[in-house]
Amino acid sequence: MNFDKMKYGQKYFPDVDVRDLYRCVSCGNCRSVCPVFEVGGWESTNTRGRILIARNLYEGAEFEEEIFDSINTCTTCGICAKTCPAGANPPALVEGIRKGLVDMGKMTETQKRISETVDEFGNTLKSEEKRNSWLTSDIQVPKKADVVYFVGCLDSYRYKETALKTYKILNKLGVGLLEDETCCGSPLLRIGFSAEKQTDHNRKQFIRSGTKTVVVGCAGCYNTLKSNFPELEILSVSDFLSKNIEKLKSAGLKKLDITVSFHDPCHYGRDNSIFESPRKIILEICTLKEMKNTKEKSKCCGGGGGVRTGYNDLSIEIAKRRWEDLPKGVNALVTTCPLCVRNMRDSNSNPEIQVLDIIDLIESALE
Ligand code: SF4
Ligand code: SF4
Repeated sequence: MNFDKMKYGQKYFPDVDVRDLYRCVSCGNCRSVCPVFEVGGWESTNTRGRILIARNLYEGAEFEEEIFDSINTCTTCGICAKTCPAGANPPALVEGIRKGLVDMGKMTETQKRISETVDEFGNTLKSEEKRNSWLTSDIQVPKKADVVYFVGCLDSYRYKETALKTYKILNKLGVGLLEDETCCGSPLLRIGFSAEKQTDHNRKQFIRSGTKTVVVGCAGCYNTLKSNFPELEILSVSDFLSKNIEKLKSAGLKKLDITVSFHDPCHYGRDNSIFESPRKIILEICTLKEMKNTKEKSKCCGGGGGVRTGYNDLSIEIAKRRWEDLPKGVNALVTTCPLCVRNMRDSNSNPEIQVLDIIDLIESALE
């Protein structure tokens, strides 16, 4: 091992775990699973190619703009890490390289725009609206609550009906809301920026509310809050509602005569092993027919890691491939993350199959 190169790398890429960089033995196993490679077909769009580029940068190779199309197209789906026989963690490596480059001022226009947007507006959608504008006047929000619903940017602004449906149910179970939630910081962290401002802001909000447990409706928020707030219990909406399933049944949850399939979001499933709670809820309501690749082997929707914003066509192509895993004879594809909802809806070519957030299914079963 060349220690001079290692010293060079750590100086510029302090967030890179050297073991990930040098564990890779270039076996190419990850070629069979990387969703970006499946669409792109070039070695540089594959995990192994990304690691080679990362290693070269780390060891002092001159930076060239073209490497962005390799380093920035990783969706951080994590399936390569589960498949790697050498135990490398490529998405963590990619994030460390992105961070080092950003710290050196090397970033794409898209990265810059996302960072400036979140910094200025507190959300990824450039919205100046109040974050809780979806809230209706008939709902009484408790001033202080041990358990709060963290809505996330997408449901706060793009899918307001999901936020309202979710909170109508959670509110009846005593869950509160933060007075002034801001972006969790996930979109920044995934593309190489820090999110201290957002984390500090939300920390003050959690303290003000007396929060002990956070219920989250987005897989990216879940992952980020879980690592930034180890002192709090972080639960997905499906975890929380599956724990309260008897209360939902008492509230009139009924069976629906439909068959659905379930898409596991990468950050809930592979990253945090949340596999059973959404399935438990679905099975209380209707018939579940599994997709071809599920749970640990679930394929990415293409939306994460900044890919939907930076490489829209690639992102939608990845989602189209995910549709190929849908079994025949289902009425809807259910998932639990708004980013997956968005990508699967935007790539859906069959109008007879709806893409639902699990909360849509629960709400229909409560009607
Ligand atoms: S599977 Fe692991 S060791 Fe093999 S090429 Fe991919 S990252 Fe490297
Ligand atoms: S995390 Fe996913 S997109 Fe990124 S290199 Fe691994 S398999 Fe490819």
